[in-house]
Amino acid sequence: MLPPRLLWCDPRPIPRDNLQEPVTLVVRDPGFHEPTDEDDCTSFGYVCQSHDGPYRGDACRGGPSHLIALDCAEHGLENMWPDGRMLMLPDGFTPPLNDEQLVWARAENDFP
Ligand SMILES: [Zn+2]
Ligand SMILES: [Zn+2]
Repeated sequence: MLPPRLLWCDPRPIPRDNLQEPVTLVVRDPGFHEPTDEDDCTSFGYVCQSHDGPYRGDACRGGPSHLIALDCAEHGLENMWPDGRMLMLPDGFTPPLNDEQLVWARAENDFP
């Protein structure tokens, strides 16, 4: 339903959570692990693919344009589900989601 590769970047002019340079999240990538209901993953971190290192808020000092991916202790890089903030600000998606995809993602997410 969702595009195989999906990015999201906070479209607001001064994103509250971007403590440094713009941060783009890799929501999905064809090379990432697709989580299933059987997965029992408990330990997650984030890595910055632009600068090839762990990302913890403002801890990546690699320079502008961070590309952040979810890193599962068990599976490595893993697809994430669009969260409420992304679904509230769908302008941030690349490629843009069409209405059908957005409605579907919001329903799956129990979005109010
Ligand atoms: Zn970085
Ligand atoms: Zn996992």
